[in-house]
Amino acid sequence: MELRVVALYPEQMNIYADRGNILFLQRRCEWRGIQFSYDASGPGEPLDAAAHDLIYLGGGQDRDQRIVAGDMVSTKRQALAEAVSDGAVVLAVCGGYQLLGQSYELGDERIEGLGLADLETVREPGPRLIGNVEIEIDLGDGPTRLAGFENHGGRTYLGEGARPLGRVIRGFGNNGKDGLEGVRRENMIGTYLHGPLLPKNAWLADRLIELALARRLGSPPDLAPLDDSLESAAHQSAHRAALRG
Ligand code: GLN
Repeated sequence: MELRVVALYPEQMNIYADRGNILFLQRRCEWRGIQFSYDASGPGEPLDAAAHDLIYLGGGQDRDQRIVAGDMVSTKRQALAEAVSDGAVVLAVCGGYQLLGQSYELGDERIEGLGLADLETVREPGPRLIGNVEIEIDLGDGPTRLAGFENHGGRTYLGEGARPLGRVIRGFGNNGKDGLEGVRRENMIGTYLHGPLLPKNAWLADRLIELALARRLGSPPDLAPLDDSLESAAHQSAHRAALRG
């Protein structure tokens, strides 16, 4: 068994220790004897949709998002659309999440996104949405809570055709108004939670590994349980922080 991960624009889209998410996936695979391969795809580089099981797109500053958006639409949109339709796992965090939608507003500018999810991100008067956050999600194996941290100026609104990743228990989520967080389409997930998301929510990391491998193997693999005492402590700490607000 092998999990093949590609990070898109890791040089530009990697704020808040987003790289930790990849390391965490790698360790959890290696601890179970599952091979792990890592690739990066940056500006100007094409993407081979069939060559990866899990595609990762981290958060970014507005400046970097502007550069990445144009490049990604021209060099990778087609391959990403194919990968998503084919059930590849995509995890896009914060700035990366915003770029999954139709557009991202930046001052007076409207930047075109990938259009892989029916959503748009706009600017509204008011402060950045910053703080600890907890959401409830269900990825087909029962409701679970994710705890994390969010920091975004953009407000994301889902269109009719989009399904949220989950609902907000604490924090702002997509826009601080409708109680929704993130987006989900097939095995593509977009979320504002980072900082870093997976080490604080080991269950989610395993679920993504499972979904990604199931696509290649034809059925979900049996993932050996690991000693998650540190991971549970990290989750509990993020959970308590979210409760405190
Ligand atoms: N630049 C985006 C915003 O502020 C995303 C920030 C991020 O990835 N943390 O809305």
